[in-house]
Amino acid sequence: MGLLSVLTAGFLMTTLVSASKLGAVQTADFKKAELDDRFLLQVSYEQKSGLQDFRTSRSRIVMFHRDGAVLHMLDVSDTRASAPDHVFATIPIRDEDRDTLSLDLNEGFDRVRSEEDRTGEDYYGRIDRRDHTTFRLFERKAVSVSYHDGILVFDQEARTDDGRRVVVHYYLSPYKPAPDFHPFEMKNLRRFGFYETYPQWRADHWVLYAMKFDIHAPIVFALSSAIPERRRAAVRDGVLYWNRAFGRSVIRVIDAPSAVRAPSAAYNVIQWASGDFASTSYIQSDPLTGQILHAHVFVLPETMMDGDLEQQNDHLRYIVAHEIGHALGLRHNFAPGAAATVMGYFKLPQILNMGREIRAGAPALAYDRAVVQHVYLSAPLDLHVLPPFCTDSQEGCLPFLPMPKESEGMRGGGRAPS
Ligand SMILES: [Zn+2]
Repeated sequence: MGLLSVLTAGFLMTTLVSASKLGAVQTADFKKAELDDRFLLQVSYEQKSGLQDFRTSRSRIVMFHRDGAVLHMLDVSDTRASAPDHVFATIPIRDEDRDTLSLDLNEGFDRVRSEEDRTGEDYYGRIDRRDHTTFRLFERKAVSVSYHDGILVFDQEARTDDGRRVVVHYYLSPYKPAPDFHPFEMKNLRRFGFYETYPQWRADHWVLYAMKFDIHAPIVFALSSAIPERRRAAVRDGVLYWNRAFGRSVIRVIDAPSAVRAPSAAYNVIQWASGDFASTSYIQSDPLTGQILHAHVFVLPETMMDGDLEQQNDHLRYIVAHEIGHALGLRHNFAPGAAATVMGYFKLPQILNMGREIRAGAPALAYDRAVVQHVYLSAPLDLHVLPPFCTDSQEGCLPFLPMPKESEGMRGGGRAPS
């Protein structure tokens, strides 16, 4: 990254400011001239509560307001003129010169908002209710401050009030919505499901936008170096299934550099989550347009433990196709009947059959093809032939009983929906 782009983005490469001056407080330098600009704040965190768990926190558009020795970070995501600006954080200024402020982010970021970034009308309805639930961060420690392609990345370690260890990742960047990105307004969840932005007031009604990538450039997924050689072809197949759903080459797969793991600000990493993670997939988007900016995919290898290597890899092809579906914005589809999507949970024989089809390069399933082309490519949706749909939390919509967790439902052991 050249100096010019660093300056353009408004942040200087963060340095450990001299210990004699500040007692080894790790600060982020911030240009005074950009105090009035809007920034995008995105937060994710890993916690240990039995299982290792990864979560996102609702993304915000923020601005700064100086008040003596502190900067107030204001949440300005609500674009209504009447909306009050909530103080999101109060950040001490540790040092300054004519042009820059040195900010102590570790001191300022002392709590995590529980609202997730991926959401939908079935979570909160179609008006913005704003859940202010937070959990406090104690014994906070700045782990690192780094800089990736215009994004300041701040990693922090802390513990929660019930003693859990938590690692929090903050991405802060000048807010620059992609000019060519076309938001897709979700009218309801009756026929198909995408994750959605929180509702936003537009002149005279609430709108929710589907969470989706901008496809003016390829969507790139990076395979973690931790994925064993004998699994990598299957993981690639699962990702590239979606190119057949798009009907064109929209997605690329690359190998992540060896030091890179999820979550990453620079790559959409498919992480091999050996240990006690669960298979899961999280996305972080522009809160105003729904454009997905980061995807973090975790695959639990213990899920596919039955059969020989080929069967395990076919199982893996389905798991990866399912998780990449979430990463592209798709919700579950648990509608009963013939399998028309990889976004459901299935019994093992059906999972293996889907994996074989993916390996053989068979056409994508009808629901996946129809909705991804509708939302991403503006293709018309033929409701007469669209396979049925229902998703989590809709009444009577369960893949198996009782409700499985993601990894359990992917193990293929549950009862088929009746
Ligand atoms: Zn799922």
